[in-house]
Amino acid sequence: MNSIAERIKEVRNEIARVCEQYQRKQNSVKLIAVSKTKPAADIASAYHAGQRDFGENYVQEAIAKIMQLSEYDITWHFIGPIQSNKTRDIAEHFAWVHSVDRAKIARRLAQQRPAEMPPLNVLIQVNIDDDQAKSGVAPEEVAELAAVINDLPQIQLRGLMTIPAVQSEPSASASSFAAMQRLFLELQSQYKQVDTLSMGMSADWPYAVAAGATMIRIGTAVFGARVNTPKNTGDPA
Ligand SMILES: *Cc1c(COP(=O)(O)O)cnc(C)c1O
Repeated sequence: MNSIAERIKEVRNEIARVCEQYQRKQNSVKLIAVSKTKPAADIASAYHAGQRDFGENYVQEAIAKIMQLSEYDITWHFIGPIQSNKTRDIAEHFAWVHSVDRAKIARRLAQQRPAEMPPLNVLIQVNIDDDQAKSGVAPEEVAELAAVINDLPQIQLRGLMTIPAVQSEPSASASSFAAMQRLFLELQSQYKQVDTLSMGMSADWPYAVAAGATMIRIGTAVFGARVNTPKNTGDPA
């Protein structure tokens, strides 16, 4: 067994254990394997270990891999910051976008989503810790952006995503995750189709699962450390 397959298995076992600990249903937490900076061969290894959902941050890099792996039954998630000149590529190649943070981007994605494809699943990125280094809307701006997305064709509002501020101890993010859970429940009470709360990465995901995360985005723990290059820091913005 190669090491990616082993790590997938380990992460899945950990997810099962943490779900039990917090009385979550086993299948209520979906693992998104974050493959940014990693070659298509690594994605194929994870796929052969049963992984189907993959997250990418950089449009050009992602599309090259999506093309290479077009025979695979993969659900692709775009999780990086979105420049408006990249919305067409995102709308045409991904099933999910986790990082919508303004109305202009939502409108472009709706216009550019091909009519023959199912609606693009959209999450609103929330800057829960008011961190200068992170994109995302403020918590009080969620309702307005949700209303805009809900009125657009070809995209469907499914929930919220966050990346908490970097903390020296991952447990320090627990209160940010709890704040996200409150926002999520509020949004869910307004929009019946809202079912997705995307939060938690390699270092902090158990705290996110404790606070109701339904998707966790794991890179390092599945694929190993990323090698940073000047062009591509491999880290969330
Ligand atoms: C890179 C990245 C991840 C995965 O980070 P790891 O710490 O490697 O698990 C998750 N979410 C986003 C938005 C990212 O950019």
